[in-house]
Amino acid sequence: MERKIKEATELIKNSKHAVAFTGAGISVESGIPPFRGNDGLWNKYDPIVLDINYFHTNTNEAWEVIRELFYDFFGKAKPNPAHVALADLEKKGLLKAIITQNIDNLHQAAGSKLVYEFHGTASTMVCTKCKKKHNSSGIDLKILPPTCNECTGLLKPDFIFFGEGIPEQANKLSFKAAEQSDVFIVIGTTGEVMPASMLPSVAEKSGAKIIEINTEPSNFTHQITDIFLEGKAGEILPRIISGLL
Ligand code: NAD
Repeated sequence: MERKIKEATELIKNSKHAVAFTGAGISVESGIPPFRGNDGLWNKYDPIVLDINYFHTNTNEAWEVIRELFYDFFGKAKPNPAHVALADLEKKGLLKAIITQNIDNLHQAAGSKLVYEFHGTASTMVCTKCKKKHNSSGIDLKILPPTCNECTGLLKPDFIFFGEGIPEQANKLSFKAAEQSDVFIVIGTTGEVMPASMLPSVAEKSGAKIIEINTEPSNFTHQITDIFLEGKAGEILPRIISGLL
């Protein structure tokens, strides 16, 4: 393991355009469970509440689960050493961008600047009628469903639901970043959610070396990963940072 971490550190040190691609696994050590697996959120909650048609037809029921999960619970989470390590890498000029599938805002909370939120974010809400964006922190969720202060339209979290497309800008910029990368660091993602799961292959086909950090092998590990660092992101990433000092 020590040798592999050293190899990964050297690759990052000598890179010109390293990009990180993160999934739910990077936030597990902040207390946010992933969707899949034994402790996954989908064992406790029915994913139907995140289906866009269900949201529009069963709005109150969907909003009750969304409030509990993404605002009461996610809202209390703090960045962990993995988020902080990526922010440090960016400050050192060794990470050009983060593409995240997460909606929890923890990369920005750790200080990362260039973050492409491939699935949107819970930190803003959008009016389904007039499209005005609202900061989630300013929205009172005591009475559901929340409504727009401009037009009284229904508010929806600004992350994508099943049945919705990827935000246009994030999609464009993420694929561009993957194409431009020479080192692509895949952290805490199963690779089961399309089209996000195409990004590592795009990077690999463009000539990037793939470093992967995960507690278990993913769909990428035996296909395209060059260096697989098996373990917790919050332990491995800080070791890479100390190797750069
Ligand atoms: P996933 O739930 O499918 O898989 C999580 C992955 O993280 C697994 O491969 C697991 O082995 C790995 N993992 C668990 N703990 C880890 C750790 N400490 N360090 C490193 N790896 C660890 O997640 P996904 O592939 O990101 O896809 C699920 C979708 O769910 C994404 O779209 C994501 O937006 C969304 N989601 C987001 C959050 C969040 O915002 N924090 C939480 C749950 C799900």
